[in-house]
Amino acid sequence: MKQLTVISGKGGTGKTTITAAFASLARNAVLADCDVDAADLHLILNPKIRETMEFKGLKIARKDSDKCISCGKCLEHCRFNAIDGNFNIKDTGCEGCGVCEYVCPAKAITLVDRISGHAYLSETRFGPMAHAALKTAEEASGMLVSLVRENAKRLAREQNRDTVIIDGPPGIGCPVISAIAGVDLVLVVSEPTVSGVHDAERVLGVAKHFRIPAMMLVNKADLNPQMAEKLERYCLDSGVKLAGRLPYDNVTTEAMIAGKTVIEYSDGAFSAELREVWAKVLVSLQA
Ligand code: SF4
Ligand code: SF4
Repeated sequence: MKQLTVISGKGGTGKTTITAAFASLARNAVLADCDVDAADLHLILNPKIRETMEFKGLKIARKDSDKCISCGKCLEHCRFNAIDGNFNIKDTGCEGCGVCEYVCPAKAITLVDRISGHAYLSETRFGPMAHAALKTAEEASGMLVSLVRENAKRLAREQNRDTVIIDGPPGIGCPVISAIAGVDLVLVVSEPTVSGVHDAERVLGVAKHFRIPAMMLVNKADLNPQMAEKLERYCLDSGVKLAGRLPYDNVTTEAMIAGKTVIEYSDGAFSAELREVWAKVLVSLQA
């Protein structure tokens, strides 16, 4: 089983459009939406949920008021301002660190599981899909990314799928590391702007640190040919293979509005170039 993660240094580079297009070009893949903080692959792939599982992220402190002697030690020691003047715990502020449980002389506080979101195993018109939804203001998305990836691998094993295509989160934080750990190839979708170059360098640095082979796709390249060249030169100098360059094309927005992948929506030049990109990615993925 080969695993490919599509990432970008920041949001808005067209990462999900590219991932969805790959979904319609792959023959025997499982899709995984690991952009759990802002999942939107489902808007194009319209998954039918077959199985739902609770995601327990950070723990949360619970107080037994009958045992509390109002000593105030929990309020004094909580570094997250999650305890009010009446020594009640505010769910939205609690990080589950456990300090209050440790310092409470009356053993009035215990840490309990918190349902932070849900993970789903679904079916799409292109094959099975693992995805998730994090509740508002919940954290621990790196753990949820790991759960989605485990679910995707399970689907691949159960349905004899040979490829897992992962839509990764933006940035370079913990969720990105969870989304790329142990994959066979990372594809960085970048755009030719000053911040795009900077973001691409950072995210490629993360991939290099974990010794994961990486390719770069320059999207919207014609918007700034000089910057596009700079990105390509960076790839050349740092040994990163170039998967291709795509022009800016409204067809991507039109396809998204129609709820289709760009490959389904149009047979035009953009789709043709994207097919070539997929062919190159496949060669590197199988290498
Ligand atoms: S578990 Fe930590 S964050 Fe939550 S209330 Fe206790 S001390 Fe504060
Ligand atoms: S530390 Fe325990 S006993 Fe003291 S106020 Fe907090 S919950 Fe009550």
